[in-house]
Amino acid sequence: MYRLLSWLIFASLCLALGSGNAATSVAALLSEAEGVRSSDPERFQRLLDQLQAAKGKATAPQRDQIAYLHAYQQSYVGNYDVAIPALRRLANGASTLETRFRAGALMVNGYAVTRQFAEGLRQLEQTLELAERVKDPELRQHGFGVAAVMYNEIGEYRLGLQYAERILAGPVHGRARCFAGQYRVEALWRLKRLPDDDALVRGAIQNCVSENEAVIANLLRGTLARKWAEQGQGDKAIALLDDHLPEVESTRYARLIGEVHSLLAELFLAKGDLAEADLHARAAIGHGPSMPHSQPLVAAYKTLYEIANRRGNASDALGYYRRYAEADRAYLNDVKTRELAYQFVRQETAQKTQQIELLNRQNQVLQLQQRVAKQNAQNTRLVVLLLLLVVAVLGYWAYWIRRRQQSLRRFAETDALTEVSNRHHFTQCAEQVLAQCAKNREQAALVMFDLDRFKEINDTYGHATGDWVLREVAENCRGFCRAIDYIGRLGGEEFAFLLRGCDLAAATRLAEDCRLRLTRIDTRPSGHTFTVTASFGVSATASSGYGLDVLISHADRMLYRAKREGRNQVRAFTMDLPLFDTPRVDEAAAEEVPRSAAAVGSSAP
Ligand code: GH3
Ligand code: MG
Ligand code: MG
Repeated sequence: MYRLLSWLIFASLCLALGSGNAATSVAALLSEAEGVRSSDPERFQRLLDQLQAAKGKATAPQRDQIAYLHAYQQSYVGNYDVAIPALRRLANGASTLETRFRAGALMVNGYAVTRQFAEGLRQLEQTLELAERVKDPELRQHGFGVAAVMYNEIGEYRLGLQYAERILAGPVHGRARCFAGQYRVEALWRLKRLPDDDALVRGAIQNCVSENEAVIANLLRGTLARKWAEQGQGDKAIALLDDHLPEVESTRYARLIGEVHSLLAELFLAKGDLAEADLHARAAIGHGPSMPHSQPLVAAYKTLYEIANRRGNASDALGYYRRYAEADRAYLNDVKTRELAYQFVRQETAQKTQQIELLNRQNQVLQLQQRVAKQNAQNTRLVVLLLLLVVAVLGYWAYWIRRRQQSLRRFAETDALTEVSNRHHFTQCAEQVLAQCAKNREQAALVMFDLDRFKEINDTYGHATGDWVLREVAENCRGFCRAIDYIGRLGGEEFAFLLRGCDLAAATRLAEDCRLRLTRIDTRPSGHTFTVTASFGVSATASSGYGLDVLISHADRMLYRAKREGRNQVRAFTMDLPLFDTPRVDEAAAEEVPRSAAAVGSSAP
């Protein structure tokens, strides 16, 4: 414990913070105060008073720095009751990370000095969490130094060594290197891992000597002396300590002086020099109040007991033994207290870690649930999309099938050249219409015509011109058709109309109009000039009945009568025509037979 106090205070003194910007008087005062805070307490106090007065002009980080320096001063004079609460406020709420870190580190010191190890360790953990974000390497090293001291002090030398080596691994100079060397030697010695040769310890001593750190250099010499004594080189150890005893005394550092005397007492006792041992043991005990609960005090009493024992002074031996036992118990209690504090905080940390782990797990579960929900929503969207796609594809397929059916039907029903109904379709439609007319007692008529001398057109102007004529004729005839009428190409150059609601006279008039219209077709677009004529035959339900075959037969007969009678004319069938009217084959031969008086009709003028 007594070592802890010295190192911690020295370590805190070692801490430096950038002097800051001297642009304002507050900044300049702060810079000066930081510079003298451990070397010139009186000047430091005056500067603090000035800073207190200038506080109104300070920025928030500067105010925090002033508060830190006040707390530092309170720590320096041992007023931890005031310092620790102020440091806690800064460690939790200072505006800069650096000040939070500095305050945390100084608070660990305060807790250690006041033997509140559990609090100190807790604060140490919190402070170390900030270390990675601290930009100033010296400040970070200071934090690690506090950790190394604290862990060495509670007997966790592995951790102490780790932090000491973290400091020494980076670029480290001056006092910081001297202190870190001491932390490392101390940890290695306790872990029984000090190398056999003395280079490491001597190097550490040298670093402190060059920095005029007599206290730390002599603490290191103490460790070296112990090592040599263990190696059976007691005289060498005594010589080392004796050589530097005046320097040790000149530090006026009671705890160091006590430790060196205690160690010399042990060494002289081992050598059998009871007088010297007695002298040094008493000198060590003289500094006892400065090092309560310490191993050197225990060792000093034990030495006195041994001396008394060897001298055969039983009553003194008993007295020193009692003192030795008391000191040893106090020391062991102290060690136990520190160890327990560490175990307690470790347990606490483990619990906290477990809780954090649990929370993390819960968080992971929640995140997973959210992901599953999101995935489900996505899946649902996909299914809906897929269904829509299927519906769209089915719809398009149905539409395509329907279009295809329609086009197939049109293809099956329509004559490709003229785009009017073909014979089959015309016949079907005509039969349906006639059946309806029969049912409704409605009249209907059939007009058939055949182009005149069409073969000649083909032969004279070519088949393509013949086709053109057929298309023109169909186009012109469509103009005569009402929505309720049907037109069809019965074959070759032969066409027919079924006219619903028309009697024979009306149909004949219509046929006449159509005939005239055909004769007026302008054939020049075909590249030739000629006249298109046709011969028409008309029949009506009034005289031929509703049978399509009969209507066609009668109209056909009239058509050929028109041919026979000179072509380009209309002939209509009436009841008084002889049933055995000349058949088609004969009609051609008897072209010159005069018109039947029974046939009504017209002819081209
Ligand atoms: P008529 O006045 O006695 O009816 O004499 P026609 O020459 O019109 O009669 P015919 O029956 O001797 O000749 C019909 C011609 O129609 C024969 C055939 O080559 C022609 N034809 C039939 N279908 C088509 C067709 O689709 N295109 C063309 N260019 N000619 C056709
Ligand atoms: Mg013809
Ligand atoms: Mg014909």
